Amino acid sequence: MTQMPTLSPTFPSRLPMVGTTVFTVMSALASEHQAINLGQGFPDFSCDRDLISHVNQAMLNDHNQYPPMIGIPELRYRIQNKIKSLYGHEYDLNSEITVTAGGTQGILTAILCCVSPGDEVVIIEPAYDSYRPSIDLAGGKVIAVSLTTIRDAQGQVSSYEIPWTQLENAINLKTRLIMINTPHNPTGMVWQRSDLDKLASLVKNTNALILSDEVYEHMVYDGAQHESVARHPDLVNRSFLVSSFGKTYHVTGWKVGYVAAPATLMKEFCKTHQFNVFTVNTPMQYGLAKYLEESQHYLNLPQFYQSKRDFFRSGLKETDFKLLPTSGTYFQCVDYTNVQSPQSKLNEADFCTWLTTKVGVAAIPVSAFYNSPVESGVVRFCFAKKGHTLNDALERLKKL
Ligand code: PMP
Repeated sequence: MTQMPTLSPTFPSRLPMVGTTVFTVMSALASEHQAINLGQGFPDFSCDRDLISHVNQAMLNDHNQYPPMIGIPELRYRIQNKIKSLYGHEYDLNSEITVTAGGTQGILTAILCCVSPGDEVVIIEPAYDSYRPSIDLAGGKVIAVSLTTIRDAQGQVSSYEIPWTQLENAINLKTRLIMINTPHNPTGMVWQRSDLDKLASLVKNTNALILSDEVYEHMVYDGAQHESVARHPDLVNRSFLVSSFGKTYHVTGWKVGYVAAPATLMKEFCKTHQFNVFTVNTPMQYGLAKYLEESQHYLNLPQFYQSKRDFFRSGLKETDFKLLPTSGTYFQCVDYTNVQSPQSKLNEADFCTWLTTKVGVAAIPVSAFYNSPVESGVVRFCFAKKGHTLNDALERLKKL
């Protein structure tokens, strides 16, 4: 009897355009070539041992079963207090704050709960790489506008600006959601109060919601303050605010964050959240709640990262890289087009491959943050690293 071949089921990909991310590719290349990894955005130093003790204690105290769906009240209370003291808005403890499995899950869940097939979602590129696939999964239509690239007299990139005219043209009655990110990955740019005012006036007579990705909220430098949507009276009522403890407390692997939003939005958010992750690991929530009692832990963060930024920048000044401003985040972008090497003519991805494999320092091409790569000769370094890591990287870069 002839055996029928076993059928391997096939199906059309929900995300046909998605491949391996550049972060994974560069990190793998960095470890293969023993390069110093200033590519992917994570600290190479430890978190505070007190935070670990609080989590250990929570486990020993038997906080190991399912917590409430929206997060333990102790942690929500601390989040509520932090937002109120920093930005002045009081979110309701029981109906307006949800603990999430990091910022990424908060973003996906917010999009899935409010974007229906065909709805338009405006993003500003360069943009964090989870935005577009999350919108695709919801069946939404991505409307991408690009930051305006400002160039100096030599044609090198010197800064970025919000493209207000493009943004205005992109917003219409089909716009369901507008995604903003401040402080901004990858450019390190931060929104000013006047920017939020302009956004508020653009959405005033529309149905558009805002998703404000503020995972770097505690990394704003030079005495400036973070402009949260929670500080803006006209935006707070239509916004999902997303934050991440991974960024704030040097524990990116814990994947704990939160979303705050008005009760009507949060009600829908929770419907999706409860069937997405249902809830987030209990001992981490207790540990974070205890750690948050001490506001200095996040209030000292700008000073901590500003000194790393300044150290890294002063070293880079001795190279041919042109420094772009970094007002927030732990990223430093540089224009490499004046580096005295034939490699400075390469596109950003090839330049990063060369830098990683031949110079021994991994970086990320900014072009990777666009859907159709925009080549401007700019790469991103992460300075959330130990002093000696930055020093070793600078030594290598100075030899260029
Ligand atoms: N938004 C931005 C802009 C980010 O850079 C990141 C992390 N790289 C996230 C969201 C996701 O944060 P989390 O690790 O908490 O999921």
